[in-house]
Amino acid sequence: MITGHLGLALGARAVDPEAPLGWLVLAAIAPDLADLALAAGGVCNPDGAYTHSLAAIAATALVLGAAAFWRTHRGRAALVVGALVVSHLLADYLTGLKALWVGGPVVGLNLYQWRWVDFALEAAVVWAGWAAGKRWGELPRWLASRYALLGLVAFQFAADAASKPQDTQPPTVCAKADLIDKLEHLF
Ligand SMILES: [Zn+2]
Repeated sequence: MITGHLGLALGARAVDPEAPLGWLVLAAIAPDLADLALAAGGVCNPDGAYTHSLAAIAATALVLGAAAFWRTHRGRAALVVGALVVSHLLADYLTGLKALWVGGPVVGLNLYQWRWVDFALEAAVVWAGWAAGKRWGELPRWLASRYALLGLVAFQFAADAASKPQDTQPPTVCAKADLIDKLEHLF
C-alpha cells in the first residue's frame, strides 16, 4: 500500500486528536522508510523480510510506541503509534506480498497486480481516513482542505498508472545481487 498508509495516519487522529501528526505519519510508513534505507545501503531485503516480517513489525511497533510515549507522555498516543505500525503490515497484506519471517512463506493478496483495484482501494482508504481525521481528529487546516485529499488521490493515481504488472515489489537490490552472483559464477 502507498498513500493508503497516510490515510490511516490521518484516520488515527480521530482516535487521538492530540497525537502529534508527525509521529502518526512516521509510524504509518516506517516499514517502507526502512525498505528505502536498506535499498539505499545496497542490502537485499527479500519480500520485505527485514522490515515487514512479523518480528520486524512487532519490534518497530514497540520501539516507535515507546519513543512516542517518551516524547509525548501520552499512553493513548503511544498505543495509536504502535497500532499504526501493525496496520501497515495488514494493509500491505492486501496490496502486496510479504514474508512472514526471514526465509519463511510469503503471503498477501497482491492487489498491485490489478492496479486499478489497488487504486480504488487506496483512494477509498485515503478518503475514509481523511474524512474521519477531518471530522473527529482536528486536522490542521491545510490537511483538512479538499486539495490535500485530491493531492493524495492524484499521487496514488500516478503511482498506479506508472506501475507495471510485474513490478509488484521493490526487488531491485536483490535482483542486482542475484545478477552479480550469477556473473561471478560464470567467470
Ligand atoms: Zn510496506
